[in-house]
Amino acid sequence: MSSEEITPPRPGQLVFAGPRRAKPPRHLADLTVAERREAVAALGEKPFRADQLSRHYFDRLVDDPADMPDLSKALREKLVPELLPRLLSPVRDLACDGGRTHKTVWKAFDGVLFESVLMRYPDRVTMCVSSQAGCGMNCPFCATGQAGLTRNLSTAEIVEQVAAGQRALNQGGIAGGPGRISNIVFMGMGEPLANYKAVLGAVRRITDPSPSGLGISQRGVTVSTVGLVPAIEKLTAEDLSVRLAVSLHAPDDELRDTLVPINTRWKVREVLDAAWGYARRTGRRVSIEYALIKDVNDQAWRADLLGRLLKGKLVHVNLIPLNPTPGSKWTASRPEDEREFVRRLESHGVAVTVRDTRGREIDGACGQLAAAVQT
Ligand code: SAH
Repeated sequence: MSSEEITPPRPGQLVFAGPRRAKPPRHLADLTVAERREAVAALGEKPFRADQLSRHYFDRLVDDPADMPDLSKALREKLVPELLPRLLSPVRDLACDGGRTHKTVWKAFDGVLFESVLMRYPDRVTMCVSSQAGCGMNCPFCATGQAGLTRNLSTAEIVEQVAAGQRALNQGGIAGGPGRISNIVFMGMGEPLANYKAVLGAVRRITDPSPSGLGISQRGVTVSTVGLVPAIEKLTAEDLSVRLAVSLHAPDDELRDTLVPINTRWKVREVLDAAWGYARRTGRRVSIEYALIKDVNDQAWRADLLGRLLKGKLVHVNLIPLNPTPGSKWTASRPEDEREFVRRLESHGVAVTVRDTRGREIDGACGQLAAAVQT
């Protein structure tokens, strides 16, 4: 790859399209059921072979040709490299919380690094996935934002993060024994709605019933966004029942322009209107994400302003104690300010919870994913 193709974005810039790069190899998980059959037919084989491969991949989570006894060796050798190429290799696996939280650093075919985090709770298993390597949204408090956008992930690169998590659960690699991933949050690296097509494909593959997809409930999937209004409207029209999370972080445009720079294009009012449109159409409560930053956005008056904006809406506020990124001048709010913020929101009748900071010791908590770990 020539050097001008990988020119990094200038700091301070909002970046929607990454530098041009080679595309990840095609994978079964990139394709709809019909496209899988077409792909197999184009290779000169009977379309039902695609269904066999789908059962191996989506149902059994197998991608090793040796473990496909219903396909002859010749067929496996032909179809597997074409439709189940190995897309990701783990570079690191870091565990904490007694082995119930695992962060994996993945290396893609082109050497690009990105991360996913599996979190096991008593009642659910949540997988936090990346949708892009890096991010172009440039939020100053977020480690991923500081690194800029490297490239969009393909649908299959997103699905593979989930499949790998489920394989680890099946094989006893996660403390607490075997289990099933119940929740997917697009809260890893990247802005999912800036990689709309691949993310939508991944949502479908993750939620389509087995063996078309992984069979995880749409209601267990959360797409989190900085607030790309046209993309929120497009998502609304898809008629899915996934949850929408909006990273608001400030109730006023003056501050939000600095914390979430895309606010210079779509203002608080427009973002919230799009969110209410989503809630109306889907009947699902929208999550408002708000990282509490000491003396920056945690004042009682801002809690009141936020409360007034959200009052009476189908909404839930998730307060995230800021995870300071290395070298950051910002830190998490004082406990008394956090408590007052919660109290003020509740006084407007707004549902609010404070997010736990799972994975903090392994740089796996919100906003810390930077893929800086090298072997
Ligand atoms: N681009 C998407 C997904 C990003 S990560 C989005 O912005 O929604 C998920 C959440 O973590 C976002 O709400 C993001 O703003 C938040 N976050 C980022 N950096 C953080 C940090 N240092 N501390 C706490 N939360 C952070």
